[in-house]
Amino acid sequence: MPEDKSLYCLLFLTRRCNIDCTYCHMEHDGYEDMTEERLARAMKLFLGVNPNVCLHLFGGEPLLRFDLIEWILEHAAKHYADRNINYMITTNGLLLRDRYLDYLLEHGVRVMLSLDGSFDSQKDWRRTIGGDGRRAYDRIVENLAELNRRNVDYFVNMVVSPENVDRMEENVLFFRDLGVRRLQVTYELGAHWCEPFRSAYVRGFREVIEKYDGQAEFSLQYGPSSEPVLGNMTFIVDVNGDMYRGCAVVLEKTMPRFNEVVRIPNLDEQRDLTSFVRSRDEQVRDFLRRTRVAENDYKLLRSNMHLGYLLRREMFDMQAQRAEHPGQPAAPRPVAQPSAGRSPSAP
Ligand code: SF4
Repeated sequence: MPEDKSLYCLLFLTRRCNIDCTYCHMEHDGYEDMTEERLARAMKLFLGVNPNVCLHLFGGEPLLRFDLIEWILEHAAKHYADRNINYMITTNGLLLRDRYLDYLLEHGVRVMLSLDGSFDSQKDWRRTIGGDGRRAYDRIVENLAELNRRNVDYFVNMVVSPENVDRMEENVLFFRDLGVRRLQVTYELGAHWCEPFRSAYVRGFREVIEKYDGQAEFSLQYGPSSEPVLGNMTFIVDVNGDMYRGCAVVLEKTMPRFNEVVRIPNLDEQRDLTSFVRSRDEQVRDFLRRTRVAENDYKLLRSNMHLGYLLRREMFDMQAQRAEHPGQPAAPRPVAQPSAGRSPSAP
């Protein structure tokens, strides 16, 4: 394993969640939470082969197992003090307050808060379990305001679905006006991004970046090298020790074949991660080839990869134009259409 590249590991602490999003593609029931013993093995596996590791605390809602977060940080301080570990947590923000927030900040855990926009634009698909959706939403917004008050280095991850792609700009402005300083706009993985939604997304994405990125204290996070997202060279350790490359486990309900394709040996059997490391384009080709036997999975995967490559091209183009004409927005250009006869998603 080359030591100059960081390993990126998503650790699932629990599959339980206090929100029930209609677009969530992962199973929440029928799983025990992660255990300390498994976490210790996972940390040994990753930190044993590379001194630079990003541990991304994930769920479900990872703050439901705050005790495990404390355990990970204490275990790392005791056994891996000489390693360079970056921590990140993805949370829906409902529990992000008081002691939890203090602890995360004190220990340098970067926060990614997942929220998709105004209450009206997301209320139909982000339902709170057993509670009042409006109150829960208001609580999240209060917690977000607290992050701003404390000048925390966090960002909001805003997921755009085909159903609300026409509200992208409105939701970007919603966050800007709420005082969010860094926003990441992402497309819903596992959704069917057929035309005209695909073009609408690419066009809307370019427009919001050109209009609002870098305005006052507001910035949009984007990077061509992270597309297509489903080709990410990430490792996942699930609550039961199952392991995956990429992020397909979060799509297991809608793309079961894809989920099988990206599964690698379980934590108990895993000895060396080297053989699974691929470039993004190699990984995409491999995933598409092996998913082809399952029509629905293949169709969804192809549409997601296609959107990812279009965005990559668009982002490179914007960067090039910005470099050529600093201070001026890049001129828009038409969104490319798939070429006939060849997988449009193939690199
Ligand atoms: S998408 Fe995230 S917040 Fe929504 S139910 Fe799934 S894990 Fe919970």
